[in-house]
Amino acid sequence: MKGPLVPATESSATDGRVPTALDLDTLSRQLNRPVRDVVEIPARCVCGNPLVAATAPRLSNGIPFPTTYYLTHPVLTAAASRLEAAGLMNEMTDRLAADTELAAAYQHAHEAYIAAREAIGERAGTGPVPETAGISAGGMPTRVKCLHVLIGHALAAGPGVNPLGDEALAAVAEWWTAERCYCEGAWDNQAPVPNKDLSRHVKHLNQLKAEAAGNADSTSDSANTEK
Ligand SMILES: [Zn+2]
Repeated sequence: MKGPLVPATESSATDGRVPTALDLDTLSRQLNRPVRDVVEIPARCVCGNPLVAATAPRLSNGIPFPTTYYLTHPVLTAAASRLEAAGLMNEMTDRLAADTELAAAYQHAHEAYIAAREAIGERAGTGPVPETAGISAGGMPTRVKCLHVLIGHALAAGPGVNPLGDEALAAVAEWWTAERCYCEGAWDNQAPVPNKDLSRHVKHLNQLKAEAAGNADSTSDSANTEK
């Protein structure tokens, strides 16, 4: 395994995929929220910083998590959002309906995504996740619903696996390319590492936890009552 850009650390990971403590802090700063259940770093900037995080197919709280690859680098996520706002997803979805060759390649990408998730789950020891069998992410295999997912997959898998992910990655070249580092100023490296997760997803999980603990009114919708 190669990992020449990443200095040996206390975790002494010989495999650059395994996140170090610094990687996890960087991810939390990039996303401005604490990351959870990240088990691998499938793609890195030339400087070594994470571009994509791989999340365990089953979270430590037991919830199945199909979106294995998450684009984390702020320059890339902003670029993907720009392409989405410009209507690239609808254009791609229309082409999938008309171009059988593209549709077949995208179907293969869907299958590769699921296989990669299973391999990550095996390496992470999370076991099989029957709840998400046959489900990938981003609209695959017949639609395009999230360019962040497709670009994350393209970066993790390398070129030639996800044709529309490769296209989306080529389309962000105005703002980001693999050859150089865009990290400077892209997030606040001096800021404290975020430790409060205020995302909707986590509020929902907290609500489920509270309900499981029996201290929430089952008809209540008040997920925000405590932090
Ligand atoms: Zn960088």
